[in-house]
Amino acid sequence: MERQPSLLFLKQHLLDPLLSFVFPSLCVVCSTPLKNNDACLCKTCLNDLTLLDPGYVCAIKEEIKSPYFDKLYIIYEFDTVFQTLIHLLKYQHFTDISRLLAKALLTEITGKYDFTSAVPLNSVRLRERGYNQSALIAGYFAQERALPFSADLIERIKNTPSQTKLNREQRIENMKDAFICRQNLNGRNILLIDDVITTGSTLNACAQVLKAAGAKRVDIGALATPVGIFQKNMERAGIKNLEISNKSS
Ligand SMILES: [Zn+2]
Repeated sequence: MERQPSLLFLKQHLLDPLLSFVFPSLCVVCSTPLKNNDACLCKTCLNDLTLLDPGYVCAIKEEIKSPYFDKLYIIYEFDTVFQTLIHLLKYQHFTDISRLLAKALLTEITGKYDFTSAVPLNSVRLRERGYNQSALIAGYFAQERALPFSADLIERIKNTPSQTKLNREQRIENMKDAFICRQNLNGRNILLIDDVITTGSTLNACAQVLKAAGAKRVDIGALATPVGIFQKNMERAGIKNLEISNKSS
């Protein structure tokens, strides 16, 4: 007897292509219809994301007087395209963007880890939003690398006020005793993921509790940082190449 094609087969091979032809997915930034393999962003907007000049990563590490983490990766400049993406991910529930951002980290970060985790959100914000965007990104990263992902490796035990108007010293004070890790991480290598770094005080406070719990290595993977903040420090440190990376790089 001849087998009938299943409903799933018909959906995948007939209905979905037909729907995407009639109602193509649009680029979340510029609303151009997306080609088949583009996830969320069209090629033009993807190319408009600016890769961060490595000099800024050095400047941030230098600013954090006693870093508890080992290697710091930051992929993009926090420019208007990135700002649009992260805003859509955080406030408009475009959660597919986390997969796109995880891909950028996967290209850059090649180390071997025992776990991935993410900087925990303030519990009030987590309730309002329903998800932690950094944990979504870390989850995709872990899935692609076949690594365990631990959402609650670090707990936030103090709901700290927003840091946007605080300077570096105030941020460090704000983050003091804000986190705890209740697990024994004896000798483990951990990749901790965050969306945006400003001064790095939150990440460093998280790395500190992971090291105190016995972690051997804590690397940080962040998606973006605003470039203006550290420019003066780079000049002071004698880092000459302040030109922002060419968009084609
Ligand atoms: Zn676009």
